[in-house]
Amino acid sequence: MKVFISVDIEGVTGINSWSETELGNPDHAQFKDQMTRETVAACEGAIAMGAKEIFVKDAHDSARNIDMMKLPKCVRLSRGWASNPDSMMAGLDESFDAALFVGYHSAAGYNGNPLAHTMTTNLNYIKINGELASEYVLNSYVAAGYGVPVTFLSGDKMLCEKTKDLNPNIVTVAVKECEGGATISLNPEYACELISEGVKNSLKHITECKIEIPEKFEVEVSYKEHKDAKRASYYPGVTQISPHVVAYTAKDILELKTTRMFIL
Ligand SMILES: [Zn+2]
Repeated sequence: MKVFISVDIEGVTGINSWSETELGNPDHAQFKDQMTRETVAACEGAIAMGAKEIFVKDAHDSARNIDMMKLPKCVRLSRGWASNPDSMMAGLDESFDAALFVGYHSAAGYNGNPLAHTMTTNLNYIKINGELASEYVLNSYVAAGYGVPVTFLSGDKMLCEKTKDLNPNIVTVAVKECEGGATISLNPEYACELISEGVKNSLKHITECKIEIPEKFEVEVSYKEHKDAKRASYYPGVTQISPHVVAYTAKDILELKTTRMFIL
């Protein structure tokens, strides 16, 4: 079995503030360690189910957070950005059996995480076919474009609840919940145990996690700054519909992710 893992930081156990997400900030140290531990836990779950090859994409900000010295032997780690439309999923292709998401967080427009955002912190929200879209949703479509089911997600509780709308059979582990600016988290070691178990269970039901691909994607992006909406409106196929909002229609996943790459 060959498994792909995309790892973000805003949904790992305990993390609460932007300073804790920034490489080089002293606040970051504890949470890059937890990001690494949760990644290792996911790998161990996959290995227990027979994974022989694991590809880990460090998918947060600098993409230089995970400590590769801690990763099991069968893991290859992608650091930095591949400069292609797959973004947080770069490295995935049709040869993988399953994809897993670790450390994922609520979307821009939701209050499930003090660090809620989608792809960039510059947006009020991104909607796909009328629904607020998280990175989980966008990246699930990227995976679906390669025919790879997403079987597992760990992150904040609200995101875990919302995952079922797109993929009713995904296994989720909520490591924390949010109340205003506060986060209430599990014990970090216990969170890792749950992640490992959750990954194991999820890999028993890979085919049930295939999602339907819509016939087209109606995308609406609302920017915090109106100048960003104006700039995006010059990309082919993108229309400005109000001072802060642009829209485009993508006929397939390639168009969805490529336009996003240039306008976000
Ligand atoms: Zn992130």
